[in-house]
Amino acid sequence: MNLKNYVRDIPDFPKEGIVFKDITPALKSPEAFKYTIDSFQELVKDWDFDAIIGPESRGFIYSTPMAYNLNKPFIPVRKPGKLPAETISFSYDLEYGSGILEMHKDAISKGDKVIIVDDILATGGTTEAIIKLVEKAGGKVVGALFLAELTSLNPREKLTEIKVESLIKY
Ligand code: 5GP
Repeated sequence: MNLKNYVRDIPDFPKEGIVFKDITPALKSPEAFKYTIDSFQELVKDWDFDAIIGPESRGFIYSTPMAYNLNKPFIPVRKPGKLPAETISFSYDLEYGSGILEMHKDAISKGDKVIIVDDILATGGTTEAIIKLVEKAGGKVVGALFLAELTSLNPREKLTEIKVESLIKY
């Protein structure tokens, strides 16, 4: 399966000058979606982790089937003001702007090992922020999985402490 056939470039989204990788064709195709989730699960079969984090919002799509299949807790990481209970937060830089991410304070127990599953690894800023959030909560990110990685943005320079896997590289 060539997953690149299911990711399309959308110029000038969400801002002029940004070429956005649109992964919705990889969701519209049941074969591509199944291949993605099956590949992720194969990659982590020997990893030791307690829970799966999905960053809002496309991360939810890829992390929840894995949580279901692997019988692991799913933890949402969201934009500010979305989570109802007490949260911890972290500020980060994005490819196109900056932001804040939040997680419920009780989502992670001390010593928990977690993995992150998301659609695109761009600058690595989001993943780096989640690593810090999880550390704040007393846990540890051990690895991260992505459908696609934009290698020209050198995201791995920020992520030397964890295992990083992506199914396609640009
Ligand atoms: P980073 O923090 O690594 O720069 O950006 C990754 C985050 O922004 C991911 O949560 C991802 O969903 C989103 N993102 C950044 N660039 C793109 C893109 O071109 N396509 C998609 N689908 N998401 C992107």
